[in-house]
Amino acid sequence: MTQPIQVAVIGAGISGLSCAHRLRQLGVSVIVLESQERGGGLVGTIERNGFRFETGPQSFLCTKPVLELIRALNIEGDLLLANPRAPRYIYKNKRLHAVPMSPPAILTSSLLSFSSRYRIIAERFRHTRPPTPEESVADFVRRKFGNEILEYLVAPFVSGVYAGDPEFLSLKSAFPTLDEWERDHGSIIRGAMNSRKTSPGPRPALCSFREGMKTLMETLTRNLDSAFVPGVRADSIERSASGGGFTIRITQSGQREEMKVQSVILATPAYISGHIVDALSPNLAKSLLGIPYAPVAVVAHGYKRLQVANSLVGFGVLIPRKEALRTLGTVWNSSLFPGSAPSDSVLVTSFVGGATDPEIVHEEPDEISSIVEEETSRILEISGAPVAKQVTRYTKGLPQYNLGHAHILENINEELANSPGVFLTGNYWIGPALGNCVEAGKQAAESAQAYLTAQKSATAAQSTIPAAS
Ligand SMILES: Cc1cc2nc3c(=O)[nH]c(=O)nc-3n(C[C@H](O)[C@H](O)[C@H](O)COP(=O)(O)OP(=O)(O)OC[C@H]3O[C@@H](n4cnc5c(N)ncnc54)[C@H](O)[C@@H]3O)c2cc1C
Repeated sequence: MTQPIQVAVIGAGISGLSCAHRLRQLGVSVIVLESQERGGGLVGTIERNGFRFETGPQSFLCTKPVLELIRALNIEGDLLLANPRAPRYIYKNKRLHAVPMSPPAILTSSLLSFSSRYRIIAERFRHTRPPTPEESVADFVRRKFGNEILEYLVAPFVSGVYAGDPEFLSLKSAFPTLDEWERDHGSIIRGAMNSRKTSPGPRPALCSFREGMKTLMETLTRNLDSAFVPGVRADSIERSASGGGFTIRITQSGQREEMKVQSVILATPAYISGHIVDALSPNLAKSLLGIPYAPVAVVAHGYKRLQVANSLVGFGVLIPRKEALRTLGTVWNSSLFPGSAPSDSVLVTSFVGGATDPEIVHEEPDEISSIVEEETSRILEISGAPVAKQVTRYTKGLPQYNLGHAHILENINEELANSPGVFLTGNYWIGPALGNCVEAGKQAAESAQAYLTAQKSATAAQSTIPAAS
């Protein structure tokens, strides 16, 4: 007899797939419902004419939870590590400036004025305390380091990670470590130095796989076997009228059906999860729908090596908004991970949109591609048109950890306490990076298992209570 399914995970992005993987490790029977025909969500790799385009994330930091997952999946041998010393650049006044990564490099950096460089070096001697009201990333950086560092160093980095606007992003939610360092050490530089002392090991490497990012997602879905069910959209969940557990209303091949499970984990973006839980808890729905998302377009261009005058030695370039270009930044894929372009070619991938320029993502792909092509050609001294192109648009790309985000998460947790058996995971919890999603997925799986164990004990205890005579 087949066992009844204990947990349904809705959504097969990295959050849902890593969550299902952990549930299986814990011996919990699980089904993963995915509305698309393939798993992976935002992560995707397309191969065409010798170019390997990454349509979402270009790489990931191999943090402990990700490495554990990769080892458990037995794909460590397929990992590609980027050169940790690859320089990153900022485009300023029509030139590329290396981002200074060490105190001597800061002293001699061409990116920043003398007074900004001095402010970075001297910050460790200026003890400060965070203000009581929640502070935006922009206010924090202006207070500690001044406007130039915000505009030419931090804001470009923020758009690289969150596609966000530093004026709205919450320091505490988006960069909790910086907040902690100021709170504990009165200085970011001292906090960073202390953290290097307390965890001196090598920093997590920037990685991809020989066959691209899809390797991780395809291995996760393959391992789930028939427990991965693509082409099924979850529409709503409700508490079952009888027998406990939940009823999930689904649409599969245009047909409406329902499914009963003991517990549900929603691994869909917050703006989808909000609609799915609406019938169960309107307040939970309201909080989830309150998380804003920024649109992003990913524009990959392949060129013959001879077309590009820049040597492309490094990670890529970030572009401050002050430079009045629409490209937020460009990753030099073929320099980071050889094999992503034919040997006589290069591949570069740019990002546009984000919270500071959302409209561009609604333009036609060809229009977005030509805007990026013109700007990239100027920055990297490229002659002629690209020989390969790939444009991917996300109208709701990345969740914004804006001011008030922590309060939204508190409300969500309060509402979840009234809906035992329902769990949420995704890139709006701990952070948007793949490592954060793996960690959040694992936590949701462990909470669901603890819930099922407690339910089982409660049922067993009830069945041993003698009936009143
Ligand atoms: C352009 C871009 C670049 C990025 N670059 C990087 C990077 O370089 N490094 C990095 O670490 N991170 C990067 N990120 C962040 C990272 O890719 C994401 O945060 C992460 O992939 C999100 O995974 P997820 O599983 O939470 O959500 P998603 O990937 O969105 O997965 C959700 C899944 O739910 C499914 N779904 C939706 N509705 C339903 C429904 N009703 N029923 C069933 N299924 C449903 C979707 O089809 C999808 O498969 C980037 C993100 C973007 C957008």
